[in-house]
Amino acid sequence: MPFRLPASRINWTNSAFLIGTFVVTLTAVPVYLWYCGMDGFQVALFLFFFIGTGLSITLGYHRLFSHVAFQAKWPVRLVTLVFGAAAFENSAMHWVSDHRRHHKHVDHADDPYDISQGFWYAHMGWILFKLDAEIPLDNIQDLRKDRLVMLQDRFYVTIAVGFGLLLPALLGYLHSGWMGALGGFLLAGVARVTAVQHMTFFINSLCHTIGGQPYSDRCSARDSWIMAIFTFGEGYHNYHHEFQHDYRNGVKWWQWDPTKWSIWTLEKLHLVNGLRRVPEEKVLLSQLADTRRRLNARLACKKTVLNERLRELLQTSDAKLHQLGERWAALKAQYADKADALKTEYTERAMAQYEEAKAALAEIRREVQQALKLLELVPEAA
Ligand SMILES: [Zn+2]
Ligand SMILES: [Zn+2]
Repeated sequence: MPFRLPASRINWTNSAFLIGTFVVTLTAVPVYLWYCGMDGFQVALFLFFFIGTGLSITLGYHRLFSHVAFQAKWPVRLVTLVFGAAAFENSAMHWVSDHRRHHKHVDHADDPYDISQGFWYAHMGWILFKLDAEIPLDNIQDLRKDRLVMLQDRFYVTIAVGFGLLLPALLGYLHSGWMGALGGFLLAGVARVTAVQHMTFFINSLCHTIGGQPYSDRCSARDSWIMAIFTFGEGYHNYHHEFQHDYRNGVKWWQWDPTKWSIWTLEKLHLVNGLRRVPEEKVLLSQLADTRRRLNARLACKKTVLNERLRELLQTSDAKLHQLGERWAALKAQYADKADALKTEYTERAMAQYEEAKAALAEIRREVQQALKLLELVPEAA
């Protein structure tokens, strides 16, 4: 049967814009660069709009408005709403509503960018073929109280065109006349819109396809440092799906996450507050559970040929992790029970228990690392 596009389901406005900007980026942009080149001003203009709109999506639309991972004062909300619109990814209200449904129904039919419907569907197919019938915005009651968000939704197209395409053209014109305007429009405008859009789309496609799952295999989300580089730190997507309210996606201090560093810096400038962090112990216990799951999967897999020594090592490692988990649970229960009394009455005992808990966590951390190294030695199933 010949392939037929479901014409009745195509969202023509979205499709024309997405394909139009993509085609202009591949045709008119190289022609402009060939004849006019790109001076330092145009490079700076491109980077300013790329970083400004990219961060407005990751820091503003995603971590602030979708997940309320921190509270922001009006200047931060205003700037991220204006530059977020200039990324041409819909108004914050619609973006957040889609994204919250993604987390709630991930990998299922009600997930707007459901990866189980294929890589291209999750990447951009869902936008091209979106039905025009409006999905009720019933999961964003909190945003309706924010006047700036409501205003952005009302004037979305004007703000997007004004700040996303006309402003770069105007700045280019002020710098070097009409050719500068054309350069600003094509480079910091159209090419930048294409780059930021596909960067965001990659989070829905590649971040649910490539990378590891160090925290959980409950859903398809994956951690990948390569993706983090292209997505302002959003590539640690396995962690994000497990702990979505954390303002960090790259939870380790060394993980590349410019969005978390920007939020941290804004906190120092008193522009944001109430940064939410998942306690380190909780993250570690989740890693411990996941490592045990993997050890068990390898031990149970009949297709994996294990020599006796390796099998023994895996079993010992699993038993050790199990023991550590139990010890931690007991320590925690003991500590939680008497925490208040310990704080006021038996300071020395409290300190001793605290030290014991800390030592147990350090041991869990070490054992998890060793188990992961051990798993690397195990041959993949044939
Ligand atoms: Zn996701
Ligand atoms: Zn999210």
